[in-house]
Amino acid sequence: MIISLLKVVTAEDKTMHLNAEMELEEFRTKAGRFPIIEKEPVEFVIRHVKNRQVLISGKTKVVISIPCDRCLKEVPYEFLIEFEKDVNLNELNQSEAHDETAEEKNYIDGYNLDVDKLLYNEILIGWPMKILCCEDCKGICNVCGQNLNEGTCDCEDTSLDPRMSVIRDVFKNFKEV
Ligand SMILES: [Zn+2]
Ligand SMILES: [Zn+2]
Repeated sequence: MIISLLKVVTAEDKTMHLNAEMELEEFRTKAGRFPIIEKEPVEFVIRHVKNRQVLISGKTKVVISIPCDRCLKEVPYEFLIEFEKDVNLNELNQSEAHDETAEEKNYIDGYNLDVDKLLYNEILIGWPMKILCCEDCKGICNVCGQNLNEGTCDCEDTSLDPRMSVIRDVFKNFKEV
């Protein structure tokens, strides 16, 4: 959804309240595609401070399904998003395409605010370092792929022998390279 900022810059100190929808259905990164399973309308408050300097604030809640790092089970992860952006439309419209400010504020094009792009950036910033379905997730068996939270398998269990587990970890690290 695109919000036009034209109306708000017509008068100094003018404030606009509105709810906007995020149209994104899935979140794509280099790491993969993650379905967005729940989203609330984005509550925007947009204020024209003066001379086309605009303060954009807002909040929303988005739930994205992300696989557990250990067992790959889908985990609904809740993003509580709150932002406040200080945008100078004069600067943005003058700057070159490669300019850092323009790149950072890629959600503004002329007087148009792209809700999806803004939220995409916010979600990316809040992306968790680690996702676990539960704190003591046992993961999956390296050999047969059995989810060890749901049952055991007949593969040789080396986890009780510390010497073996060191070797296994080395092997695991080697595989990840
Ligand atoms: Zn898990
Ligand atoms: Zn197994």
